[in-house]
Amino acid sequence: MSHVHMTLPEAHSLALTVLSANGLDETNARAVADRMIQAEADICHSHGLFRLPWYVSGVTSGRVNGQAKPKVDQLAPAVIRVDGDNGYAPLAQRIAHKPLVECARKNGIAALAITNMYHIAAMWPEVEALADDGLCAIAVTAAYPYVAPAGGLKALFGTNPMGFAWPRKGQPPMVFDQASSSMARGEIMIAARDGHNVPETAGIGPNGEATTDPNVVLAGAQLGFGGYKGASLAMMIELLAGPLIGQFLSLESAQDDAGRGGPPKGGELIIALDPAKFGDAHGFLDHGEKLFAAVLSQEGTRLPGVRRFESRKQTLTEGIHVPKSLHQDILALIP
Ligand code: NDP
Repeated sequence: MSHVHMTLPEAHSLALTVLSANGLDETNARAVADRMIQAEADICHSHGLFRLPWYVSGVTSGRVNGQAKPKVDQLAPAVIRVDGDNGYAPLAQRIAHKPLVECARKNGIAALAITNMYHIAAMWPEVEALADDGLCAIAVTAAYPYVAPAGGLKALFGTNPMGFAWPRKGQPPMVFDQASSSMARGEIMIAARDGHNVPETAGIGPNGEATTDPNVVLAGAQLGFGGYKGASLAMMIELLAGPLIGQFLSLESAQDDAGRGGPPKGGELIIALDPAKFGDAHGFLDHGEKLFAAVLSQEGTRLPGVRRFESRKQTLTEGIHVPKSLHQDILALIP
Protein backbone atom coordinates (compact mmCIF):
# COMPACT_ATOMS: atom_id res chain seq x y z
CA MET A 1 0.00 0.00 0.00
CA SER A 2 1.40 3.44 -0.84
CA HIS A 3 1.52 6.15 1.77
CA VAL A 4 1.76 9.91 2.04
CA HIS A 5 4.37 11.20 4.47
CA MET A 6 3.34 14.07 6.75
CA THR A 7 4.74 15.82 9.78
CA LEU A 8 2.43 15.93 12.80
CA PRO A 9 1.77 19.69 12.38
CA GLU A 10 0.88 19.08 8.71
CA ALA A 11 -1.54 16.30 9.70
CA HIS A 12 -3.03 18.54 12.40
CA SER A 13 -3.48 21.41 9.98
CA LEU A 14 -5.16 19.08 7.44
CA ALA A 15 -7.55 17.71 10.08
CA LEU A 16 -8.37 21.24 11.27
CA THR A 17 -9.03 22.43 7.71
CA VAL A 18 -11.32 19.49 6.96
CA LEU A 19 -13.27 19.78 10.22
CA SER A 20 -13.61 23.57 9.90
CA ALA A 21 -14.81 23.21 6.31
CA ASN A 22 -17.49 20.76 7.41
CA GLY A 23 -19.39 22.59 10.11
CA LEU A 24 -17.22 22.50 13.24
CA ASP A 25 -16.38 25.83 14.81
CA GLU A 26 -12.77 26.61 15.70
CA THR A 27 -13.02 25.37 19.32
CA ASN A 28 -14.73 22.09 18.45
CA ALA A 29 -12.56 21.46 15.39
CA ARG A 30 -9.37 22.06 17.37
CA ALA A 31 -10.40 19.73 20.21
CA VAL A 32 -11.17 16.91 17.74
CA ALA A 33 -8.06 17.53 15.60
CA ASP A 34 -5.83 17.58 18.72
CA ARG A 35 -7.26 14.24 19.81
CA MET A 36 -6.89 12.61 16.38
CA ILE A 37 -3.31 13.77 15.97
CA GLN A 38 -2.49 12.57 19.50
CA ALA A 39 -3.57 9.12 18.26
CA GLU A 40 -1.44 9.47 15.11
CA ALA A 41 1.54 10.57 17.22
CA ASP A 42 1.15 7.43 19.34
CA ILE A 43 0.76 5.26 16.21
CA CYS A 44 -2.79 4.25 17.11
CA HIS A 45 -4.19 4.48 13.59
CA SER A 46 -7.65 3.26 14.50
CA HIS A 47 -8.29 6.56 16.34
CA GLY A 48 -6.28 8.86 14.11
CA LEU A 49 -7.03 10.32 10.68
CA PHE A 50 -8.85 7.08 9.86
CA ARG A 51 -11.75 8.49 11.92
CA LEU A 52 -11.84 11.87 10.18
CA PRO A 53 -14.49 10.95 7.54
CA TRP A 54 -16.70 9.59 10.36
CA TYR A 55 -16.25 12.77 12.43
CA VAL A 56 -17.23 14.83 9.37
CA SER A 57 -20.26 12.73 8.42
CA GLY A 58 -21.63 12.99 11.96
CA VAL A 59 -21.76 16.78 11.65
CA THR A 60 -22.79 17.07 7.99
CA SER A 61 -25.67 14.62 8.62
CA GLY A 62 -26.96 17.08 11.22
CA ARG A 63 -26.71 14.65 14.16
CA VAL A 64 -23.60 16.01 15.86
CA ASN A 65 -23.41 19.65 16.95
CA GLY A 66 -20.24 21.15 15.51
CA GLN A 67 -20.84 24.33 17.54
CA ALA A 68 -21.22 22.53 20.90
CA LYS A 69 -20.80 24.52 24.09
CA PRO A 70 -20.40 21.93 26.87
CA LYS A 71 -21.60 22.97 30.32
CA VAL A 72 -20.23 21.70 33.63
CA ASP A 73 -22.47 21.13 36.69
CA GLN A 74 -21.62 19.95 40.20
CA LEU A 75 -24.25 17.32 41.08
CA ALA A 76 -22.84 16.27 44.47
CA PRO A 77 -19.64 17.08 46.40
CA ALA A 78 -17.69 14.48 44.41
CA VAL A 79 -19.85 14.17 41.29
CA ILE A 80 -19.49 16.43 38.27
CA ARG A 81 -21.57 16.24 35.12
CA VAL A 82 -20.71 17.85 31.82
CA ASP A 83 -23.44 18.20 29.22
CA GLY A 84 -21.66 17.83 25.91
CA ASP A 85 -24.38 19.72 24.00
CA ASN A 86 -24.46 16.93 21.39
CA GLY A 87 -20.92 17.62 20.24
CA TYR A 88 -17.87 15.37 20.10
CA ALA A 89 -16.33 14.20 23.37
CA PRO A 90 -12.88 15.87 23.24
CA LEU A 91 -14.18 19.39 23.93
CA ALA A 92 -16.38 18.25 26.83
CA GLN A 93 -13.42 16.30 28.26
CA ARG A 94 -11.12 19.30 27.92
CA ILE A 95 -13.56 21.68 29.61
CA ALA A 96 -14.28 19.27 32.50
CA HIS A 97 -10.63 18.31 33.15
CA LYS A 98 -9.76 21.15 35.57
CA PRO A 99 -12.99 20.94 37.63
CA LEU A 100 -12.47 17.16 37.91
CA VAL A 101 -8.87 17.57 39.11
CA GLU A 102 -9.89 20.20 41.68
CA CYS A 103 -12.80 18.07 42.90
CA ALA A 104 -10.60 14.95 43.28
CA ARG A 105 -7.92 16.91 45.15
CA LYS A 106 -10.54 18.29 47.51
CA ASN A 107 -12.45 15.06 48.17
CA GLY A 108 -9.84 12.40 47.46
CA ILE A 109 -12.17 10.96 44.83
CA ALA A 110 -14.31 12.51 42.11
CA ALA A 111 -16.46 11.13 39.33
CA LEU A 112 -17.18 12.89 36.06
CA ALA A 113 -20.21 11.93 33.96
CA ILE A 114 -19.82 13.13 30.39
CA THR A 115 -23.26 13.19 28.80
CA ASN A 116 -25.02 14.06 25.56
CA MET A 117 -21.99 13.66 23.39
CA TYR A 118 -20.52 11.43 20.70
CA HIS A 119 -17.48 9.36 21.68
CA ILE A 120 -15.46 7.64 18.96
CA ALA A 121 -12.00 7.94 20.42
CA ALA A 122 -9.55 6.16 22.72
CA MET A 123 -9.54 6.54 26.51
CA TRP A 124 -5.85 7.08 27.25
CA PRO A 125 -5.79 10.86 26.61
CA GLU A 126 -8.16 11.63 29.47
CA VAL A 127 -6.63 9.22 32.01
CA GLU A 128 -3.06 10.13 31.04
CA ALA A 129 -3.83 13.84 31.50
CA LEU A 130 -5.20 13.13 35.00
CA ALA A 131 -2.13 11.09 35.93
CA ASP A 132 0.04 13.96 34.66
CA ASP A 133 -1.74 15.97 37.36
CA GLY A 134 -0.78 13.37 39.97
CA LEU A 135 -4.08 11.50 40.07
CA CYS A 136 -4.95 7.88 39.49
CA ALA A 137 -7.79 7.58 36.94
CA ILE A 138 -10.23 5.16 35.34
CA ALA A 139 -12.37 5.93 32.29
CA VAL A 140 -15.03 3.88 30.49
CA THR A 141 -17.42 4.42 27.61
CA ALA A 142 -19.88 2.37 25.55
CA ALA A 143 -20.36 2.35 21.79
CA TYR A 144 -22.67 0.48 19.39
CA PRO A 145 -23.78 -3.15 19.81
CA TYR A 146 -20.83 -5.02 18.35
CA VAL A 147 -20.06 -7.75 20.92
CA ALA A 148 -22.13 -10.86 21.64
CA PRO A 149 -22.85 -11.71 25.31
CA ALA A 150 -21.11 -14.87 26.54
CA GLY A 151 -22.77 -17.85 24.87
CA GLY A 152 -24.88 -15.64 22.59
CA LEU A 153 -24.62 -15.03 18.85
CA LYS A 154 -25.99 -11.53 18.45
CA ALA A 155 -24.11 -8.29 18.98
CA LEU A 156 -25.35 -6.52 22.11
CA PHE A 157 -22.53 -4.79 24.03
CA GLY A 158 -20.18 -2.15 22.72
CA THR A 159 -16.50 -2.91 22.37
CA ASN A 160 -16.54 -0.84 25.56
CA PRO A 161 -13.02 0.30 26.37
CA MET A 162 -11.47 1.00 29.76
CA GLY A 163 -8.50 3.23 30.42
CA PHE A 164 -6.45 3.32 33.62
CA ALA A 165 -3.53 5.54 34.58
CA TRP A 166 -1.16 5.62 37.55
CA PRO A 167 1.24 8.53 38.09
CA ARG A 168 4.98 7.93 38.27
CA LYS A 169 7.91 9.94 39.60
CA GLY A 170 9.85 11.77 36.91
CA GLN A 171 8.52 9.69 34.04
CA PRO A 172 5.32 9.25 32.07
CA PRO A 173 2.47 7.54 33.92
CA MET A 174 1.64 3.86 33.56
CA VAL A 175 -1.39 3.86 31.25
CA PHE A 176 -3.36 1.02 29.81
CA ASP A 177 -6.31 1.42 27.55
CA GLN A 178 -8.08 -1.54 26.05
CA ALA A 179 -11.33 -2.66 24.50
CA SER A 180 -13.35 -5.28 26.38
CA SER A 181 -13.74 -7.05 23.04
CA SER A 182 -10.99 -9.34 21.85
CA MET A 183 -10.12 -6.73 19.17
CA ALA A 184 -11.02 -3.05 18.83
CA ARG A 185 -13.55 -2.56 16.02
CA GLY A 186 -11.34 0.01 14.32
CA GLU A 187 -8.58 -2.62 14.04
CA ILE A 188 -11.02 -5.06 12.40
CA MET A 189 -12.14 -2.33 9.98
CA ILE A 190 -8.50 -1.59 9.14
CA ALA A 191 -7.85 -5.34 8.58
CA ALA A 192 -10.86 -5.40 6.21
CA ARG A 193 -9.60 -2.32 4.40
CA ASP A 194 -6.09 -3.72 4.04
CA GLY A 195 -7.16 -7.30 3.15
CA HIS A 196 -5.72 -8.97 6.29
CA ASN A 197 -7.23 -11.81 8.30
CA VAL A 198 -8.08 -11.42 11.98
CA PRO A 199 -7.63 -14.06 14.71
CA GLU A 200 -10.53 -16.49 15.17
CA THR A 201 -11.03 -15.07 18.66
CA ALA A 202 -12.00 -11.68 17.17
CA GLY A 203 -15.57 -12.69 16.39
CA ILE A 204 -18.12 -14.90 14.70
CA GLY A 205 -20.13 -14.70 11.50
CA PRO A 206 -23.87 -13.85 11.31
CA ASN A 207 -24.82 -17.49 12.04
CA GLY A 208 -22.28 -17.95 14.79
CA GLU A 209 -19.73 -19.55 12.47
CA ALA A 210 -15.99 -19.35 13.21
CA THR A 211 -14.11 -17.06 10.83
CA THR A 212 -10.90 -15.12 10.31
CA ASP A 213 -12.45 -12.88 7.64
CA PRO A 214 -12.83 -9.35 9.08
CA ASN A 215 -15.78 -8.60 6.77
CA VAL A 216 -17.65 -11.64 8.10
CA VAL A 217 -16.95 -10.57 11.70
CA LEU A 218 -18.18 -7.03 10.91
CA ALA A 219 -21.42 -8.56 9.57
CA GLY A 220 -21.71 -10.91 12.57
CA ALA A 221 -20.61 -10.24 16.13
CA GLN A 222 -17.33 -9.55 17.90
CA LEU A 223 -16.36 -11.55 20.98
CA GLY A 224 -15.30 -10.33 24.40
CA PHE A 225 -11.68 -10.97 25.37
CA GLY A 226 -11.20 -14.00 27.55
CA GLY A 227 -14.69 -15.35 26.88
CA TYR A 228 -17.29 -14.61 29.56
CA LYS A 229 -14.86 -12.49 31.59
CA GLY A 230 -14.51 -9.87 28.86
CA ALA A 231 -18.27 -10.02 28.24
CA SER A 232 -18.92 -9.25 31.93
CA LEU A 233 -16.54 -6.28 31.80
CA ALA A 234 -18.37 -5.05 28.69
CA MET A 235 -21.65 -5.35 30.62
CA MET A 236 -20.22 -3.46 33.60
CA ILE A 237 -19.10 -0.66 31.30
CA GLU A 238 -22.55 -0.52 29.63
CA LEU A 239 -24.04 0.03 33.11
CA LEU A 240 -21.47 2.64 34.24
CA ALA A 241 -21.46 4.67 31.02
CA GLY A 242 -25.21 4.18 30.41
CA PRO A 243 -27.85 3.72 33.13
CA LEU A 244 -25.65 5.10 35.96
CA ILE A 245 -25.35 8.47 34.24
CA GLY A 246 -28.62 8.47 32.33
CA GLN A 247 -27.09 7.78 28.91
CA PHE A 248 -27.71 5.26 26.15
CA LEU A 249 -26.85 1.59 26.25
CA SER A 250 -25.03 0.55 23.07
CA LEU A 251 -28.21 -0.99 21.68
CA GLU A 252 -30.13 2.24 22.37
CA SER A 253 -27.38 4.23 20.70
CA ALA A 254 -27.84 2.11 17.56
CA GLN A 255 -31.62 2.64 17.70
CA ASP A 256 -30.99 6.39 17.96
CA ASP A 257 -28.72 6.25 14.91
CA ALA A 258 -31.45 4.35 13.00
CA GLY A 259 -29.07 2.83 10.48
CA ARG A 260 -27.54 6.14 9.34
CA GLY A 261 -24.07 4.83 10.15
CA GLY A 262 -23.03 7.88 12.15
CA PRO A 263 -20.92 8.00 15.32
CA PRO A 264 -22.40 6.55 18.53
CA LYS A 265 -24.09 8.87 21.01
CA GLY A 266 -23.58 7.97 24.65
CA GLY A 267 -21.83 8.74 27.88
CA GLU A 268 -18.45 8.38 29.50
CA LEU A 269 -17.62 7.92 33.18
CA ILE A 270 -14.27 9.04 34.53
CA ILE A 271 -13.23 8.38 38.13
CA ALA A 272 -10.25 10.28 39.50
CA LEU A 273 -8.56 9.40 42.79
CA ASP A 274 -5.99 11.50 44.60
CA PRO A 275 -3.51 8.97 46.09
CA ALA A 276 -2.30 11.66 48.47
CA LYS A 277 -5.65 11.39 50.28
CA PHE A 278 -5.68 7.62 50.80
CA GLY A 279 -3.30 7.32 53.74
CA ASP A 280 0.11 6.92 52.13
CA ALA A 281 0.72 10.33 50.62
CA HIS A 282 4.51 10.01 50.81
CA GLY A 283 4.86 6.33 49.96
CA PHE A 284 2.43 5.49 47.16
CA LEU A 285 4.68 6.49 44.27
CA ASP A 286 7.66 4.44 45.48
CA HIS A 287 5.36 1.58 46.40
CA GLY A 288 3.96 1.56 42.84
CA GLU A 289 7.51 1.64 41.47
CA LYS A 290 8.25 -1.50 43.49
CA LEU A 291 5.49 -3.30 41.56
CA PHE A 292 6.67 -1.98 38.18
CA ALA A 293 10.27 -2.97 38.95
CA ALA A 294 9.10 -6.50 39.86
CA VAL A 295 7.17 -6.74 36.58
CA LEU A 296 10.10 -5.49 34.55
CA SER A 297 12.55 -7.80 36.29
CA GLN A 298 10.95 -10.62 34.30
CA GLU A 299 12.34 -11.05 30.83
CA GLY A 300 9.85 -10.37 28.05
CA THR A 301 7.75 -7.84 29.97
CA ARG A 302 7.08 -4.18 29.44
CA LEU A 303 4.68 -1.72 30.99
CA PRO A 304 1.52 -0.80 29.12
CA GLY A 305 1.78 2.61 27.49
CA VAL A 306 5.51 2.34 26.79
CA ARG A 307 4.97 1.54 23.11
CA ARG A 308 2.94 4.73 22.77
CA PHE A 309 5.52 6.87 24.56
CA GLU A 310 8.24 5.50 22.29
CA SER A 311 6.04 6.05 19.22
CA ARG A 312 5.48 9.64 20.33
CA LYS A 313 9.23 10.32 20.26
CA GLN A 314 9.55 8.66 16.87
CA THR A 315 6.67 10.47 15.11
CA LEU A 316 7.77 13.82 16.53
CA THR A 317 10.97 13.61 14.50
CA GLU A 318 10.01 11.28 11.67
CA GLY A 319 6.38 12.22 11.04
CA ILE A 320 3.64 9.77 10.05
CA HIS A 321 2.65 7.75 6.99
CA VAL A 322 -0.98 8.04 5.95
CA PRO A 323 -2.39 5.46 3.50
CA LYS A 324 -2.75 7.20 0.13
CA SER A 325 -6.39 6.11 -0.29
CA LEU A 326 -7.28 7.58 3.13
CA HIS A 327 -5.39 10.77 2.27
CA GLN A 328 -7.41 11.08 -0.96
CA ASP A 329 -10.68 10.47 0.91
CA ILE A 330 -9.71 13.22 3.35
CA LEU A 331 -8.78 15.71 0.62
CA ALA A 332 -12.15 15.02 -1.03
CA LEU A 333 -13.81 16.33 2.14
CA ILE A 334 -12.47 19.84 1.46
CA PRO A 335 -15.08 21.65 -0.65
P1 NDP B 1 -4.47 -3.04 22.45
O1 NDP B 1 -4.87 -4.48 22.59
O2 NDP B 1 -3.69 -2.64 21.29
O3 NDP B 1 -3.70 -2.58 23.74
C1 NDP B 1 -4.32 -2.62 24.99
C2 NDP B 1 -3.40 -2.17 26.08
O4 NDP B 1 -2.44 -3.21 26.33
C3 NDP B 1 -2.58 -0.94 25.74
O5 NDP B 1 -2.53 -0.10 26.85
C4 NDP B 1 -1.20 -1.50 25.38
O6 NDP B 1 -0.13 -0.60 25.63
C5 NDP B 1 -1.13 -2.68 26.32
N1 NDP B 1 -0.23 -3.72 25.85
C6 NDP B 1 -0.16 -4.27 24.61
N2 NDP B 1 0.78 -5.20 24.56
C7 NDP B 1 1.35 -5.26 25.79
C8 NDP B 1 2.38 -6.03 26.39
N3 NDP B 1 3.03 -6.95 25.68
N4 NDP B 1 2.70 -5.80 27.67
C9 NDP B 1 2.03 -4.88 28.39
N5 NDP B 1 1.05 -4.11 27.89
C10 NDP B 1 0.69 -4.31 26.62
O7 NDP B 1 -5.81 -2.11 22.52
P2 NDP B 1 -7.25 -2.42 21.97
O8 NDP B 1 -7.12 -2.92 20.58
O9 NDP B 1 -8.01 -3.23 22.94
O10 NDP B 1 -7.88 -0.96 21.95
C11 NDP B 1 -7.34 0.01 21.06
C12 NDP B 1 -7.92 1.35 21.33
O11 NDP B 1 -9.28 1.40 20.90
C13 NDP B 1 -7.93 1.77 22.79
O12 NDP B 1 -7.30 3.03 22.85
C14 NDP B 1 -9.41 1.87 23.15
O13 NDP B 1 -9.73 2.92 24.04
C15 NDP B 1 -10.03 2.17 21.82
N6 NDP B 1 -11.43 1.79 21.78
C16 NDP B 1 -12.40 2.78 21.76
C17 NDP B 1 -13.74 2.46 21.72
C18 NDP B 1 -14.81 3.49 21.78
O14 NDP B 1 -15.95 3.15 21.67
N7 NDP B 1 -14.50 4.76 21.94
C19 NDP B 1 -14.16 1.07 21.66
C20 NDP B 1 -13.07 0.12 21.74
C21 NDP B 1 -11.75 0.48 21.78
P3 NDP B 1 0.61 0.17 24.41
O15 NDP B 1 -0.36 1.22 23.97
O16 NDP B 1 1.86 0.67 25.02
O17 NDP B 1 0.85 -0.86 23.34
